[in-house]
Amino acid sequence: MTLDAEPRRSYDVVVVGGGPAGAALATFLQQDGHRCLVLERSTFPRYHIGESLIPSTYAALDRLGLLPKLKASPFPPKYSVRFVSPSGAESDPFYFSETIEGDRARTWQVERSAFDQMCLDNAREKGVDVEMATSVTEVLFDNQRAVGVRARRDEGAVFEVGARVVADASGRATFIGSQLGLKRPIAGLTKATCWSYYRGGKRGEGIDAGETTIFMLPQRGWFWYIPLPDDLVSVGIVASPDYLFTDADDPDTVFLREVTKCGPLLERLVSAVRVAQVRLMPHLAYLNQQTCGDGWVMVGDARAFLDPIYSSGLFLALASAELAAGCIHQALEADDVSAARLGAFEPTLTAGVEVFWRLVRAFYDETFSFREFVERFPDQRAALVDCLVGDVVGKNMRPFLVALAQMTEPPPALAD
Ligand SMILES: Cc1cc2nc3c(=O)[nH]c(=O)nc-3n(C[C@H](O)[C@H](O)[C@H](O)COP(=O)(O)OP(=O)(O)OC[C@H]3O[C@@H](n4cnc5c(N)ncnc54)[C@H](O)[C@@H]3O)c2cc1C
Repeated sequence: MTLDAEPRRSYDVVVVGGGPAGAALATFLQQDGHRCLVLERSTFPRYHIGESLIPSTYAALDRLGLLPKLKASPFPPKYSVRFVSPSGAESDPFYFSETIEGDRARTWQVERSAFDQMCLDNAREKGVDVEMATSVTEVLFDNQRAVGVRARRDEGAVFEVGARVVADASGRATFIGSQLGLKRPIAGLTKATCWSYYRGGKRGEGIDAGETTIFMLPQRGWFWYIPLPDDLVSVGIVASPDYLFTDADDPDTVFLREVTKCGPLLERLVSAVRVAQVRLMPHLAYLNQQTCGDGWVMVGDARAFLDPIYSSGLFLALASAELAAGCIHQALEADDVSAARLGAFEPTLTAGVEVFWRLVRAFYDETFSFREFVERFPDQRAALVDCLVGDVVGKNMRPFLVALAQMTEPPPALAD
């Protein structure tokens, strides 16, 4: 391949992908005085699924300087999550204020085109170089150490950029995982999803207007119902692909069949109009068997994705970015970008992800019920709300997990 004749640039850190994980990582590192370049293959604003924040994102959003922008945004504030049984019985909302005080007990439902643009603009304002419409095509290695990337602009130019560290924040494209053959499905977690958008769906009143509502299906699948700006509601189903696609493959047919079968959801949508195509994702969960190496590290969905049930994706994107930024900063200062240094945050992050993994498996265990769990272990209700708000990274969740194991068999650890 011939490279276009432009001088070879070099950065401390080159980030593949300008979604929330990549934008946050670059912002944190730039704030620590490192020169960062983000290469993003699309042109923002662009569509993305994954609209519900959880309150534990607050601290990272604060340190990124994004809170004033979020508070001034049209994004509906979210104070709670509510579960609705197949018969229509509604749980009391789990208000985040049960375990969190003040401003932090509220988060937002975000339209991702606007939220991701906000995050990347913020990175730019902090001094990060950002190039859009530019796809990374290869991570360059010198022996086993990543030393830069090759990229192609949409208008055709091909170029290379040197980097002391390459960060993969490419989301579900899992760029390094694909290049190095590290990506794996997760045994025991095969879920598919399809979703669309409605205008005019019913909302709760007052602080309940922005709640996430989870409609449970008898087959252990579920619908999300997420209010967005402009009277839009994001509605999607997650269930086993064997169940979803038994007698039809067409996403429209499958989605409408399921909406029609879910009476309590249908009641919310009685006066609503569908305003978007149905989108489909046949395989949700995956992980990489190695998540950092000499000169490279993965953050956000480029690292792993479990399941949307606890809305943990954006939280883990920001948390992994912040933890990784701390290690990259120290590695650059020490001029030692070995895997051991870059990946020093892994045990902390992995412990938090394992908590979500246990919760995801519990949720899909047909013999398990969170209501019965709270009745049997009332002292663990606060820990359960901690999970719903995402407060599980860097925290001792062992008593909660021990109690959980008494009601649902623990799965093998993800790391095994
Ligand atoms: C059905 C579903 C529902 C979800 N619901 C929620 C939810 O309610 N709440 C929540 O918190 N999370 C949710 N998530 C998860 C959430 O969407 C992700 O965790 C989040 O987007 C991860 O952010 P990221 O920055 O890691 O990746 P992304 O946001 O995907 O960003 C990656 C970026 O990398 C770019 N890119 C890819 N390849 C290249 C390349 N080669 N070169 C340059 N750029 C590249 C892409 O264009 C993209 O902009 C959901 C996910 C799914 C699938």
